[in-house]
Amino acid sequence: MRQFAVVGSGPAGFYTAEALAKAYGDAAKIDILDRYPVPYGLIRFGVAPDHQSLKAVSKRYDKVAETEGVGFIGNVCVGTDVSVEDLLGFYDAVILAIGAPHDRKLGISGEDLPGVIGSAEFVGWYNGHPDFADLDPPLDGTHAAVIGNGNVALDVARILSKTRNEFEGSDIVGHALEALDASKIRTITILGRRGPHQIAMTPKELGELGHLEATLPLVDLNDFPPREDDEALEPGQRKSVTILREFNDIRANRPKSMVFDFFAKPLSIEGANHAERLIVEKTELDDKGAARGTGETYEVPASLVVSCIGYTTPPIAGVPYDERGGKFLNESGRIADRLYAVGWARRGPTGTIGTNRPDGYEVAQAIAAAMPAGSSGDRAGGEGLKRLLSDRGVKPTDFADWRRIEAAEEAAARSGSPREKMVRVEEWQRTLGH
Ligand code: NAP
Repeated sequence: MRQFAVVGSGPAGFYTAEALAKAYGDAAKIDILDRYPVPYGLIRFGVAPDHQSLKAVSKRYDKVAETEGVGFIGNVCVGTDVSVEDLLGFYDAVILAIGAPHDRKLGISGEDLPGVIGSAEFVGWYNGHPDFADLDPPLDGTHAAVIGNGNVALDVARILSKTRNEFEGSDIVGHALEALDASKIRTITILGRRGPHQIAMTPKELGELGHLEATLPLVDLNDFPPREDDEALEPGQRKSVTILREFNDIRANRPKSMVFDFFAKPLSIEGANHAERLIVEKTELDDKGAARGTGETYEVPASLVVSCIGYTTPPIAGVPYDERGGKFLNESGRIADRLYAVGWARRGPTGTIGTNRPDGYEVAQAIAAAMPAGSSGDRAGGEGLKRLLSDRGVKPTDFADWRRIEAAEEAAARSGSPREKMVRVEEWQRTLGH
């Protein structure tokens, strides 16, 4: 019997477990580990609460979890509770699918002022991530700034823009809904260091902004190249740019605005004891398409600044790490003998949930080629790991525990709207009687 440990229960982890289960059938046991007592990683803590259709993919992961030979071992932090070396002792191969949960730094002065928040923290806060339940972002000023021109920036700006009514049907966590409902923010400026042709936003997500109840998206057509230049763009990008241009045609009176500020590079964040304004430099494109400062600066008021400029994977002791890429050093997913990476921990933080499927399948096939079924050594697998955890005083959770937590959350949802997620580790522990 082969024994595999997949570390991380987000999309990358589940697609890899699915692929391993298909490749080995009943000749392998696959344990999916997570540092949290509940699974689904980015699906639970990252995908926007008003994008329920994207979260539906967890039904597919449920099926994987129910597959014979697949187990869940939650509440275990690899690197703290157990080392990768420990895991390699228990399992034939260890696959790191830990995503990229840390914010990339802006590297500008004022970044550490209160009111300056990374998107991982802000997104975690409105999604009920236990680490960020007490974030309490300042929503009492009238101006917010969102740095970055990717889909995460759009998620953050949209969540800041929506009315209580527009969260109907979402699974936004109660504390965030109340805080956003009381928010005084009226202007959200989205800062892109390059221009409309260089955005990393996708058409569907951009299109939603035109229909917001209380917020008007605003662009300055002077930032755009001549319309005929759009022809050279790849079709998806052309569609995005067209949607951006059409924001200018919306005739509506809405109390809040979302301002797209292109060619705008933040130089610093200033304020007495907390963020009050950004100092921004106007940019232009150099001949390689990168942003080059023009020397012209201006101020953007903001008492809340959310940087949405990408993520990094945290290093784990003993695992080779690519500092520049913020991910594990690997070749086609292989880090070292019997040690692999998948998803954002392998490629860096790009691509949609679906991108992780071929990624996970490719690595699972490489493992299957390197370790044929049936010729295994006698590794202890999950039973050995659980014995070690017990010796160390760690109480792991399994899928039955997750179901109990889910049932408690659903009961809470029935007694009030919106769905009340559990956002504190103690609540989980109470539910499980730990
Ligand atoms: P992203 O798509 O890579 O966008 C990052 C943005 O940050 C880029 O506009 C980049 O500009 C900018 N940036 C980077 N460093 C900067 C700096 N120092 N100063 C100012 N701007 C800077 O990353 P993301 O938005 O975090 O999204 C991650 C992945 O998740 C993407 O593949 C995204 O599509 C996906 N996602 C999808 C959805 C969805 O499908 N609904 C939702 C959320 C996320 P440059 O281009 O100039 O580098």
